[in-house]
Amino acid sequence: MEIESAKCECCGLREDCTGEYIAGVKAEFGGRWLCGLCSEAVRDEVAKARRKKKKSGSEGLEEAVRDHMSYCGKFGNNPAFRVADGMRQMLRRRASDISTSSAAS
Ligand SMILES: [Zn+2]
Repeated sequence: MEIESAKCECCGLREDCTGEYIAGVKAEFGGRWLCGLCSEAVRDEVAKARRKKKKSGSEGLEEAVRDHMSYCGKFGNNPAFRVADGMRQMLRRRASDISTSSAAS
């Protein structure tokens, strides 16, 4: 099996994938390769846009990819950062629920 290194056009993450997989992803996203996280997010956006605005396939896709690229850009091109930040927010929310009377450090 042929393994190639592909770089996500949204967040810049590198993944080693089979050539077949890379070609499949590129075909789906108009010639761009997106990592697992980004492709899931874009697929989600496309599905939402289609439900809301009844857009044709490629139009909704281009918009979703562009939106997600700018979203990734805001978060320092690092998907791990987004995950960590989401977890931090979750913990913070939970901590503020619990410690209403005690002084938080
Ligand atoms: Zn990505």
